[in-house]
This record gives sequence, structure tokens and C-alpha cells, in this order.
Amino acid sequence: MSDFYTPQLDPLHPTRHLKVLDTPFGPRSVYDSVSFCNRCGSCQQACPTYLLTAQETFSPRGRNQLVRLIAEGKLKLANNRALAEQALNTCLLCGRCTQACAGKIPTAEHMLELRRALRSQPLPRLLFKLLSCRTSHPHTFARLVRTGLWLRRIGLLRAARACGLTHLPGLNWLNHADDILPAYPARADRDAWREARVNPPADPTLLYLPSLEAEFFMPSLALAVLTWIRQKHRPLVLANVSSGLFAYVYGDLRQSRRQLRRLILRHGAVQNGTLPLLTDSVDVYLFLRRAPQLFAAWPHWQKKAQQFARHVVFVTDFLSAKAISADKSARVRLDCGALFAREGAPFDQARKILKTHFKKNFVECLYKDADVPAFGYNFVRGNLGEKICMSAVQSIARTQTGTVFTLSGLSALELNFYLKRFYPQAQADHFARLNG
Ligand code: SF4
Ligand code: SF4
Repeated sequence: MSDFYTPQLDPLHPTRHLKVLDTPFGPRSVYDSVSFCNRCGSCQQACPTYLLTAQETFSPRGRNQLVRLIAEGKLKLANNRALAEQALNTCLLCGRCTQACAGKIPTAEHMLELRRALRSQPLPRLLFKLLSCRTSHPHTFARLVRTGLWLRRIGLLRAARACGLTHLPGLNWLNHADDILPAYPARADRDAWREARVNPPADPTLLYLPSLEAEFFMPSLALAVLTWIRQKHRPLVLANVSSGLFAYVYGDLRQSRRQLRRLILRHGAVQNGTLPLLTDSVDVYLFLRRAPQLFAAWPHWQKKAQQFARHVVFVTDFLSAKAISADKSARVRLDCGALFAREGAPFDQARKILKTHFKKNFVECLYKDADVPAFGYNFVRGNLGEKICMSAVQSIARTQTGTVFTLSGLSALELNFYLKRFYPQAQADHFARLNG
């Protein structure tokens, strides 16, 4: 097998990079993959950052050319680092360009590879440290988050905002976190969620990996998921376990591999790895399904990852239109925002269920309709992120939609913040909470 790695990007650290990218046309190196971009521009009108800025640097074509020129050594990073970082860190990693491209060029993956080569860190340092701590010290992380939520509940965060403390350098993200996070969960929800975690079934038939938001901020989402799956399964909750997605997008690929290995072993330890592993975040689902591409240089682990990925399922697999009791006369739509892709099984299943239940009241999203950026974007790209969210709100208002369903809890929180301010007639909720 030829060496798929693109040494030009980062000659000294091959393990910090993907050896191959899984593309619909088979495995390719990053360099091969960007070389397949023929600069046709069919993706330009699908890219939210290009639509807002009309600048080539913010387009998929421009971003791919940047990676190619750097890989070929024609563009010296030392002289163009600021330009490269701007192009990289403004990419939403949304995969809309891949959907529009005939060659299915995975631009989002190219952006991540270049970020890793540049050691570019788009998140504020403190936020990055806090979220990284979930992997290295999960108990400390849980304590810190709960303490933070409690301080917010007693009004300390509001006071800090009023004094301007959260405008100090590196603390701005606290404002956004305060804006989008829901109110402190009700005691009944907290107790029910604790009960689900501390009393595992003796013979589980499914593993549930709750997303960060379901675990800490939206126990009502985790409980709604459990209500659906308990109709057929005895779920074992994998509490406070990191999927590796955060390190994949914002950190070190080696750390992401370590977390994935741990998760694969944990999955394999229950019923010989034959149980489905369920997640409530479409971003985590898409990442775990593509886990094998992280282990291309380790055939033994790649085989395990392939077996593991086949067992990863999403909540849409457990819902059916017949079980929905929501009011059929409401106009609803589906937000397709996700990392890496906005097509495939979860989107198709969710669309089918919504269409069957709501019939003509299901608003089909147009190809150009905006979706909410995935996790982390609005913490750092305030202005651009806000404009993208506003485009989504405008399209919701244009179609007079009442409820927008998302496949990720964080997208629902983010969208709700903008809807409350600019179109309060509508609200966003996770798809798993269809029945309220
Ligand atoms: S990414 Fe695809 S659609 Fe976009 S310019 Fe390249 S080949 Fe054309
Ligand atoms: S992943 Fe999204 S933001 Fe990035 S280039 Fe593609 S369409 Fe544009």
C-alpha cells in the first residue's frame, strides 16, 4: 500500500495526522483528496461563510487550494500564517460543500488536517482546558461544571457580567455560554437522571453514550431518549465518557485515538461487543461511524474500530411516526446542521418520521437554507456565527415554522437563543423530544 500521509504538511509528526481519509471513492491521502478539487466552484453557493463574505478565502474552493499550495510547498506558512488561520478557523466544518460537490471532496477534513499541522487552536485557552479536562480528569470536570452551573443559578455569573468581568481577555465565551445554556434543571429531572446512571441493569441490551449537553445541561433530553429506548431495550448508561470528538476537532489526534480506543474496549467488554451503542448527538454519531479512519496505520485497531462502528446507532433508529403524539397542525422543520455531513441515515430517518406525522405541515428545507453552526463555532467566531444563525432564523420566519427539530442538543440551545430574540413565535428542540 502506498503511503497516504502527506508529509509536506507536518514532516516531523505523522501520528498527529490521519494517514488516510475515507471518501466515497475509497481511501485517499489528504494531498490526493485536495488534488481532486478541479476548482469548478459548484460548492461556492452552498458554503455559508462564502455566501456571507463573498471572499474566495472563505470558500471551499479557496480553502482547498490553500491546503494544496501549502502541501506542495508553493505557499510559505511562515509568511501566510494569519491568512491560513483565518481560512481554517472560520470553516464551520459543516460538510455542505461536500454535499454539493460531484467529487464529494471532504473539505472539512482538509481543514482539520491543516489545523493540526499549524497547531491552530480556535477555542479560548480556558474553555479548551476545561473541556479537555473531561478526558484527563472526568470527575474533576463533572465537579467543575456542576459548580459553574450552581454559581450561575445563584446569580454570580450575572453579577460578573454586570461588572464587566466576563469581558476580560479570554473570558468572553462565558457570555455566550450564559446566553445559550438553559435554566438549572428541575430537581425531578436531576434525580431521575442520577437514578438512571447509578442503577445499571444486570443484563443490558444497549449502551447509551449521552452527549455532553444531555449529561450536564439537558437531563430532560437524556430522559426523553431513555423513554424511547426502554420500550425495547435495557440501556446501560456510559456516564461522563468522552467520545474523542472534541480532541478530533479542537485538539490532538493522538488524544482522540486514545479516547476512542478506551470507548471501543468499553463497548467490547459488555456482551463481547455485540450491543448497539446509542448516542443522541448527530455529530458524535457521524464521528464514531468514521472511527476506522483514525487507525489506518494500526490494522489491528482498525479492524476493532470497524466492528465497533457497525454497532453505533442514533436515536432516529428507535423512533417511529406511530408513537408520536405531538400536535399535527404545527408547522415543523428539521435543522440539518452537523459536523462533516448533512445527509445520510439520521437525517433521512428524521425527515421521513416528521413527514409521515406532520404531512403538509412539514416544511422541507431548501438546499440553500442555513443551519446552525455546530458546537464551539459561536464561542470564537461571534460575528460570523451570529450572521449564520440569523440566516437560519430568517428562513424559519419566512416559512412561518413553529418548531424546528435538531439532531443535536447544542444546536437546539444555540438556535433557541436567536429565536427568542428575533422570532419568538418559533422554538427549537431536539428530535428525541418530539413528544415534549
Ligand atoms: S470542492 Fe468540489 S465543487 Fe468545490 S470547487 Fe472543488 S471540485 Fe468543485
Ligand atoms: S465545511 Fe462548510 S463552512 Fe467549511 S468550506 Fe465547506 S461549506 Fe464552507
